Amino acid sequence: MIDSCAVETNGLITIEQALQKINQTITPVNHTERIALKQALGRILSTSVVSPINIPPDNNSAMDGYAFSSADIKPNQRFTLTLAGTSLAGRPFTEILKKNECIRIFTGAVVPEGLDSVIMQEHIERNGQQIIFPITTTAKQNIRLAGSDVINNTELLSAPKKLSSIDIGLVASAGIYDLVVKRKINIAFFSTGDELCPIGKSLKQGHIYDSNRYLLSGLLDNNNFNISDLGIIADDKQLIEDTLISAAKTHDVIITTGGASVGEADYIKEILDKIGDIGFWKIAIKPGKPLAFGKIKDCYFFGLPGNPVSVIATFHKIVTPALHQLAGISGEKPFFIRANCTSHLKKQKGRQEYQRGILTQHESGEFFVESAGKQGSNIMSAMSKANCYIVLPSDCEGISAGQTVKVEPFATYI
Ligand code: AMP
Ligand code: MG
Repeated sequence: MIDSCAVETNGLITIEQALQKINQTITPVNHTERIALKQALGRILSTSVVSPINIPPDNNSAMDGYAFSSADIKPNQRFTLTLAGTSLAGRPFTEILKKNECIRIFTGAVVPEGLDSVIMQEHIERNGQQIIFPITTTAKQNIRLAGSDVINNTELLSAPKKLSSIDIGLVASAGIYDLVVKRKINIAFFSTGDELCPIGKSLKQGHIYDSNRYLLSGLLDNNNFNISDLGIIADDKQLIEDTLISAAKTHDVIITTGGASVGEADYIKEILDKIGDIGFWKIAIKPGKPLAFGKIKDCYFFGLPGNPVSVIATFHKIVTPALHQLAGISGEKPFFIRANCTSHLKKQKGRQEYQRGILTQHESGEFFVESAGKQGSNIMSAMSKANCYIVLPSDCEGISAGQTVKVEPFATYI
């Protein structure tokens, strides 16, 4: 499955090549399910939605005021109409109006047949049942016509689309109470490493707490995913292999952390070679160089590095677009901006770096970014202060304070 033209001389592929490989490899899920509108937030709409009604269904008033017929307007003079009744929201006026009659009307109330204009209540004078209209009265104002938002039988939402709360509100306004969406993606993940201790237990000498599963639980907290946390698996080749084979039977995706490099106890690539297909292994990015992507039977596999900052960066840069594609919404690219960098940034040539930064916007609208601190791939404290990546291209050899840099706000990944 390795694409020879995607391999650079130093054995690393670029992030663009990695994303291209993912794009060629992943087939979107095609099963769908019908779900209640209340459960649909964030899900991927798979069948376009057509409105069964006009929205609004009736001509209604945009103001609290008086509804009248423009035929009763007397040009260039004040005129008086007789008040014949009231139309309230939800309680329409149903009688037939005579010439020179008007009604009291409130916002959202149906404008009766024969009337085509509403005047704001502040603009009239009232004398008992006589309503005196000003010389400035204009025809056909302040009415929201039936179908002026959406016309019956026209498309409300076009699939595929990730459903926002606004979409849900729009669909509800058409009275639709269920939608057809892509089925959820089943994702299993586990941490590998003999040094890992679950939180809640006391640390033994030489051990560290397993933070990656908590990271991944958060990163995968999405209405489109069912997630299975398979725990910590020791650096035991057979155990990792058995866990992968078993998880691949019941999941669409497996994500592991750790053991993806070439240390003594790094078995991921070797196991994937044995039981699946490797799509690529090493990417020319920092953090996150050792990353194995491939397939175990029909299950996609992402072997992320062990260091938590690398887990986050590779999740954002590689796993997120892959999951989007699997869910059927490809083509969503993170947005970036240009900012003035106020820190000196160290960098060596050779890999595209995603340094962690703190982005601020001045009153003028100009963006400034500073380094969030230490850039080691284990330094979670700086990652936690950061709100963006400072993206430094492969050939960059450092940034001096005052230079303009490319910045990707984390908000783009949420
Ligand atoms: P590895 O890729 O297994 O060589 O791990 C690289 C580094 O990440 C090592 O310092 C590991 O101790 C650390 N690491 C691996 N897994 C985790 C984890 N689940 N939580 C925190 N750190 C980890
Ligand atoms: Mg390890």
